[in-house]
Amino acid sequence: MAIRAVRGFKDILPQEIRSWHRIEDLAYGVFNTFGFKEIRIPLVEKTEVFSRGIGEYTDIVEKEMYTFPDRKGLSLSLRPEATAGLLRAVNEHRLYAQSPILKLFTMGPMFRHERPQKGRLRQFYQIDAELLGTKAPLSDLEVIWMAWDIIVRLGVKNVRLEINSLGCPRCRPGYRDALKSYLESVFQDLCPNCQRRSKTNPLRVFDCKEKSCREIMKNAPLMRQYLCPECTEHINKVLESLEVLDIPFVINPYLVRGLDYYVMTTFEIVSPDLGAQSTVAAGGRYDGLLRDLGGPDLPGVGMAIGVDRLLLLLEADEETLPIDLFVVALGLTARKKVIPWIGTWRRHGLRVQMSYEDRGLKSQLRQANRLGAHYVLILGEDEIKEERLIVRDMKTHDQQKIPIDNNLISGLENLIDM
Ligand SMILES: [Zn+2]
Ligand SMILES: [Zn+2]
Repeated sequence: MAIRAVRGFKDILPQEIRSWHRIEDLAYGVFNTFGFKEIRIPLVEKTEVFSRGIGEYTDIVEKEMYTFPDRKGLSLSLRPEATAGLLRAVNEHRLYAQSPILKLFTMGPMFRHERPQKGRLRQFYQIDAELLGTKAPLSDLEVIWMAWDIIVRLGVKNVRLEINSLGCPRCRPGYRDALKSYLESVFQDLCPNCQRRSKTNPLRVFDCKEKSCREIMKNAPLMRQYLCPECTEHINKVLESLEVLDIPFVINPYLVRGLDYYVMTTFEIVSPDLGAQSTVAAGGRYDGLLRDLGGPDLPGVGMAIGVDRLLLLLEADEETLPIDLFVVALGLTARKKVIPWIGTWRRHGLRVQMSYEDRGLKSQLRQANRLGAHYVLILGEDEIKEERLIVRDMKTHDQQKIPIDNNLISGLENLIDM
């Protein structure tokens, strides 16, 4: 039996690739105009990058990572998200020393061992941006703005921004205590998963999909009732700037995100068209993260766009581009003549193909047709004798002969409208 791909891992086929390029090209363009620079980081990190970065008691680290010992017994993990590894790199190369504000982006695959479903693969792709070195609310705006711009400029319509504040080390502990005592009071009614979470990571109970847990959490205390003046001012400034930009948002007090490192602003861009996995982009502020990874205490804010989900919201792009020119060479002499010409045309940007097999004229013309060639160039023994070659427009069926001389290359390019 033929071998198939691993469950949750997907091939991206040639007929899908144009949509990927469209997304990536637009993202490059947006990052460029916002002054973000690209960094490329490894897919594999020491496991502690994630257990320290994301948090030991998060679902991601507890049960979703691909973790394995290497041949020397060192624990490694495939990256489940980009931020922790990116900050590891920032530390390692002291990138923060280059400028007070660091703006970086990266794109690529991430890995999580979750149950595969629509919009959730075990290898999935993210476009990720991080802005380090400032706590200013406008930096939160920049990051949200880029995510919003990329998604909306691709033509996605039915999306909304949900936003919340998770508080800071000054106000969150008080809230955490209040939430914990609430969860203790309803402990018996929580699902087993949430009973465990209520001790290790109480905020995560807000993310439970169980109906009974959701009911219970409707009466839970909310972070916004506990925000300190600084956190209140911060989120208000972010919201004001969103209004100025005309980015519509909804304050979602239940939005908590699955990662420990978030403080203050947290957000998601969601689409109701996606079903259960409705988050297209997400992010937030993570002021203590660089320090937790052993670096300086620099604040930061970031976002990630889920490319696979974004693709589900886009209309499929047309397939591969048709070719400009198919070269039919009949016989050995003709073949030798056309090869350098083909090289020149390709260097000039024409999409040129030829038959690899020594087939007859009819067969080669059929091949040109299948490939959608606009023009076919025919060179056989007669044409060599005449020192002219045939150029046929496959759309109009017009045919003309052009001389094989020093002007051949430019002559053909003029003819086919280059
Ligand atoms: Zn606070
Ligand atoms: Zn639950």
